[in-house]
Amino acid sequence: MAIQLYRARVDRIRNLTHDVREIGFQLIDPPEILFKAGQFVSFEVPHPKFNKPVTRPYSIASPPSQRDRITLLLNLVTGGPGSTHLFSLKEGDDTQFKGPGGSFYLKDEGQRDLLFVATGTGIAPLRSMLDHLFDRGFSRNTTLYWGLRSQRDLYYQDVFEALAKRHPCFRFVTTLSQPEPGWTGATGRVTKLIEEQVPSATNLAVYLCGHSGMISEVSALIGKKGLCPIHKEKWYDGADELAQA
Ligand SMILES: Cc1cc2nc3c(=O)[nH]c(=O)nc-3n(C[C@H](O)[C@H](O)[C@H](O)COP(=O)(O)OP(=O)(O)OC[C@H]3O[C@@H](n4cnc5c(N)ncnc54)[C@H](O)[C@@H]3O)c2cc1C
Repeated sequence: MAIQLYRARVDRIRNLTHDVREIGFQLIDPPEILFKAGQFVSFEVPHPKFNKPVTRPYSIASPPSQRDRITLLLNLVTGGPGSTHLFSLKEGDDTQFKGPGGSFYLKDEGQRDLLFVATGTGIAPLRSMLDHLFDRGFSRNTTLYWGLRSQRDLYYQDVFEALAKRHPCFRFVTTLSQPEPGWTGATGRVTKLIEEQVPSATNLAVYLCGHSGMISEVSALIGKKGLCPIHKEKWYDGADELAQA
């Protein structure tokens, strides 16, 4: 799976929340991409302050079985060159990216149960992994903990509910760190779920994706519950990251 340049056409845009957008890209040249669930593609985008473009990676949210297209899940970061560029794309636009890249992909975890933990759009590579696993009949216990801020940030709940219905070994919990009144689901950050719901990590393999605060806190918590493989995809360090889900 050598990294190469792809030309693609934007063929589907869905606004999932006030600041999250899903974009579908139909590949043009080459017409197919081979990647491992969890990997990313990179865009070169203009930077308002510099004379040369900057590179921004985005995880593929669709499964590797879809070879002629990919789906990305994007957070709008105000003033950010990468997200501003991708949010400016319209259906029918042609663009290009390089890929696939990264070593955050599903490993052979033997007989271990799987625990996935995401904050925000960090769900993107995990969705690709989950679809890939269950497309192939995976049957070990699999849990997803997903942290978002409040009700207006919710999306993909129906997708994971349907997955859990079809695959009784899959369980997911979405927790809101700043819920509005009326929310009856889990509250607090994903670390609270791990403290309360994971008795031991010795039979787990863990996949984490999101901001650095979540990743270091969850890794430390899991470490206290036993020795196990922890695979991490850190997207960014944010000043307000600890206030986030
Ligand atoms: C391996 C990898 C995969 C990634 N996949 C995705 C993806 O699938 N979807 C996605 O939206 N982003 C993803 N990112 C983040 C993405 O590459 C950019 O960093 C992000 O779009 C911001 O870039 P920018 O140029 O718009 O803003 P910048 O000016 O580069 O960033 C400004 C600040 O925004 C914050 N920030 C960065 N990413 C986010 C985010 N997702 N949500 C909230 N705040 C953020 C950080 O504090 C950052 O310092 C990924 C990052 C990595 C390393």
